[in-house]
Amino acid sequence: MFRFFRRATAPDPQPGSQLVESAPSNADAAAPTITESLGKTRGGFFGAVRNLFRTQVTLDEAFWESLEERLIAADLGAHVTADLVDELRARNGRRPFASGDEAEAALRELLEAILGSAGDPGLTLPVDGAAIILVIGVNGTGKTTTVAKLTKYLLDGGRKPHLIAGDTFRAAAIDQLAVWAERTGVPMYGQVPGSDPAAVVFDGIGAAVARGADTIIIDTAGRLHTKANLMAELEKVRRIIERRVPGAPHETLLVLDAVTGQNGLMQAKTFVGSVGVTGLVLTKLDSSAKGGVVFAIAEELKLPIKLIGTGERVEDVQPFDPQEFVRALFA
Ligand code: GDP
Repeated sequence: MFRFFRRATAPDPQPGSQLVESAPSNADAAAPTITESLGKTRGGFFGAVRNLFRTQVTLDEAFWESLEERLIAADLGAHVTADLVDELRARNGRRPFASGDEAEAALRELLEAILGSAGDPGLTLPVDGAAIILVIGVNGTGKTTTVAKLTKYLLDGGRKPHLIAGDTFRAAAIDQLAVWAERTGVPMYGQVPGSDPAAVVFDGIGAAVARGADTIIIDTAGRLHTKANLMAELEKVRRIIERRVPGAPHETLLVLDAVTGQNGLMQAKTFVGSVGVTGLVLTKLDSSAKGGVVFAIAEELKLPIKLIGTGERVEDVQPFDPQEFVRALFA
């Protein structure tokens, strides 16, 4: 059976559909600033990096070793850390930094460059026709919450998002998405647990387009213990989308949990290798002391971080701004 949640203004549902009227949420508190959200990262391991520049201003061998240790501890990964320290040492060799502040400014510039080189952080959605956003990631990373946040974010931007519950493996996943659809006041399409996700997506896109959606956000399964099956399923869903709407999906967003740090990076490589990913959503930055993983991700995956999750509420999402992010780390 087809389940359908909609705004009161939507046309009548198709035969066999179940209709649940819903009102938009009125909880609209402001999202925390990036500086507030990065409190744990800044106060934790990244604070140690910052303090080094502000307390030990002799740029001797001990300084560079200490910087390397602290960047590794801040979760930037061995590769990025080595590149950064080598570059700073080389610059200092050519023209010694006059102060700790100047060395810190050089590090900040290099960090911004890493994020900048990973690509455009904005969402790229077509103006004509329905934009399709496929949301993928391992269970527990915050995928479903991200779909809800994205919905609110796009609604605020004047778009008309509809949702498709593509994780048919868990009944709870369909129910959870339905709750978010109700709270944000948008239609959701889903079928009974156990249905073929590709069929759900195929039918859902047809129904959403017929009802005037300009953006369709698709939630997917994320049980990684059956990795090969999951990747095959996601590839099939992707092929169905491509066949249904030429040029789609317009965004395939991989959701990563910042708390998992370098493990998340390993996880990401699996998805990027199998399913085309256009950008990343990094969740739980508010509860992570490992925000430095952002740099490892950008450098190793060469994929832009498009959005960051900064809390559990639907409004706790922000577009990723590399400059602001680096500024907040050193605030
Ligand atoms: P899924 O299994 O990947 O769909 O994950 P869920 O969306 O169900 O989220 C898992 C848990 O992470 C829930 O308790 C969410 O409230 C929480 N969560 C999701 N995003 C964030 C975030 O940005 N910050 C915090 N602190 N918690 C989050």
